[in-house]
Amino acid sequence: MKKVFLRYNDIHRMCQNIAKEIQSDGWTPDCIVAISGGGLIPARILRSFLHIPIYTISVQRYDDVTAVQPVPVVKQWLNDSETQIRDKKILIVDEVDDTRITLAFCTRQLEHDAPADMRIAVLTQKNKQKEGELSASVSKIYAGQHINDVWVVYPWESEDIDAHDSGA
Ligand code: 5GP
Repeated sequence: MKKVFLRYNDIHRMCQNIAKEIQSDGWTPDCIVAISGGGLIPARILRSFLHIPIYTISVQRYDDVTAVQPVPVVKQWLNDSETQIRDKKILIVDEVDDTRITLAFCTRQLEHDAPADMRIAVLTQKNKQKEGELSASVSKIYAGQHINDVWVVYPWESEDIDAHDSGA
């Protein structure tokens, strides 16, 4: 599969553009829910523009032998969803919407805690048939880039950031 390398600066600009789009929509999220680990760095950059708290959740789709789990497994969740997300406008952040199985699972779990509104921000939206269906409470998905079904390599995955950047 073709690979596309993104640099930290590309990601920072994508987050800035997403934040501008959120602001021009007049939508004012109360908090970010970052899906660990790919959503952590984008969430932190988005916070520099949106100035709201970040909460983290973690789900696992691959076991130790990288077999794909049919349903994601929760590894960590909100510790006080009543005060963190009930009746709140939440922005769920991850690095990529690929098959959508992860985002479908997370939004369906989060809807049990009755947020007022859920929107999603991803760096990469892949133009492909999606396998997961989001919660009906998700009103919009923001994306830093729309691409075909290629493999995106994010800078935090690299052990040699200079070699990574030279491939970008
Ligand atoms: P899903 O298929 O549930 O939308 O995405 C599951 C996970 O697969 C993502 O959170 C991410 O960890 C991984 N993934 C999917 N596509 C890519 C990609 O192009 N690059 C990288 N680095 N990870 C990906």
